[in-house]
Amino acid sequence: MQTQKKHKPRFSFEFFPPKTDVGVEKLQVVREKLSAVNPSFFSVTYGAGGSTRDRTFDTVMQVQKQSGICTAPHLSCVGDTRAELRELLNRYKAEGINRIVALRGDLPSGMGASMGELRYASDLVSFIREETGDHFHIEVAAYPEKHPQASSMTNDLQAFKAKVDAGANSAITQYFFNVDAYKFFVDSCEKMGLDLPIVVGIMPITNYENLLRFSSSCGAEIPRWIRMRMEGFQGDTKSIALLGEEIVTNLCEELLALGAPGIHFYTMNQAEPTLAIWNNLGLSQK
Ligand code: FAD
Repeated sequence: MQTQKKHKPRFSFEFFPPKTDVGVEKLQVVREKLSAVNPSFFSVTYGAGGSTRDRTFDTVMQVQKQSGICTAPHLSCVGDTRAELRELLNRYKAEGINRIVALRGDLPSGMGASMGELRYASDLVSFIREETGDHFHIEVAAYPEKHPQASSMTNDLQAFKAKVDAGANSAITQYFFNVDAYKFFVDSCEKMGLDLPIVVGIMPITNYENLLRFSSSCGAEIPRWIRMRMEGFQGDTKSIALLGEEIVTNLCEELLALGAPGIHFYTMNQAEPTLAIWNNLGLSQK
């Protein structure tokens, strides 16, 4: 964990682009509440295959203009052509956006097998560097518990290294509940000579059914003791949310004490669960 400790901790909040006018209004309220704690940046997800191309762009511009806080678009290459990616990069550059989260993406089911022209996130990072030089600070994804499609942890670490060698500046992890998985991942990166910040991605637990669904698709393990306790509440949403807040607060505390260089919150466009953890950690006072 030595290399991580030298990076100044940073804190960021992720949104998805709303689909409806009501969602847009709701996000404005959430964004206002979260702006008040002055995060390092916001980010906005991108539907692979370009399914949210305009909504992501509009949300990024709205959040950055209204908050005055740097806002990073996510961009995924699967299903998009080089020309489409180039056009988007140039639009963001022209608007003064200088941070981007570069991903391969997962095509939504039903979008067929159209793979686009770039296969892996490392190809996208290379493409962004070829097209725009050092303009963007590039974030990439990291998987302390292995990406579900990777044939082995070793191969996945090599894939992560390829993204860094292609020009990524920092990384955000998939969410996880096993501190050791993060520690071993970071130590393996150190052994490969990688010293970029590997910021922890944190998913506040609010709805247990949703957590089960997301976790099975993204490969995040929910430890047995958490499942047993959550299932013991038999759908009592208030108790689930309270225990979730305690578990995730403890997880963040442990990771920050270990030297994690910051937290990226998957807010799911809700302010309260993230702010509760933020306040429990006393982050505004630090
Ligand atoms: P890659 O790094 O390309 O890896 C994908 C798989 O390919 C891995 O199994 C890897 O081991 C393997 N691989 C990579 N390179 C090679 C190679 N050269 N040879 C063989 N195998 C290789 N998804 C979205 O659609 N939109 C979003 O906005 C979004 N935001 C995200 C934000 C964060 C912080 C994270 C952690 C994930 C996000 N995702 C998003 C999910 C992500 O797109 C998926 O996890 C996707 O399956 C992999 O994307 P990647 O960028 O990690 O891909």
